[in-house]
Amino acid sequence: MKTQTSPPQTASHELPATPPPASLLAARAGKIKMATISLCGCWGCTLSILDCDERILGLLDKVTITRSSLTDIKRIAERCTIGFIEGGVANEENIETLEHFRANCDILIAVGACAVWGGVPAMRNLVELKDCLAQAYLHSPTAVAGAKPVIPFHPEIPRITAKVYPCHEVVKIDYFIPGCPPSGDAVFKVLDDLANGRPFDLPSSINRYD
Ligand code: SF4
Repeated sequence: MKTQTSPPQTASHELPATPPPASLLAARAGKIKMATISLCGCWGCTLSILDCDERILGLLDKVTITRSSLTDIKRIAERCTIGFIEGGVANEENIETLEHFRANCDILIAVGACAVWGGVPAMRNLVELKDCLAQAYLHSPTAVAGAKPVIPFHPEIPRITAKVYPCHEVVKIDYFIPGCPPSGDAVFKVLDDLANGRPFDLPSSINRYD
């Protein structure tokens, strides 16, 4: 994988965090910890968790969601059993986030086409990165008339990688749930099985894509 060298920065998981209150820690005691991250995706797969509808309430008797865009908690404060990944890897921050996630989760699940094989964002792999950037920013049909075309650059903007990568090309992934997005039924089946100590099993009846 080709990446450019970034200046030293504070990683998102190194930022200070407020410890959860004792009452929340007590409510979470004994539950399976689950966390989600969204890399280069559209949030559609994360929203499939909400498509579990009222079934998620029963799930939350056994599972507590720690880091997640659903809870707006942006860092992992404690080790998790289940890590749920939406999106592929398209920039250096995605790599750092995914590697930290791997190091802090027992089971990693790539959820959706973007995480599994790159998905729609991987269409940019068909051309050189410089050509993709030029088309997006310099020759875009939606460019503002009269404005000077410029490719955005700033040290605090994560540098994009030369290609978009599926998650398993960056870290070891334990399970895959295909789909764009997978159905709420598929997401619930996997989470419910894992939460109840059953093996991963995604039958074709609820697996929209293979
Ligand atoms: S797989 Fe589809 S729904 Fe999921 S993040 Fe990618 S584009 Fe969005």
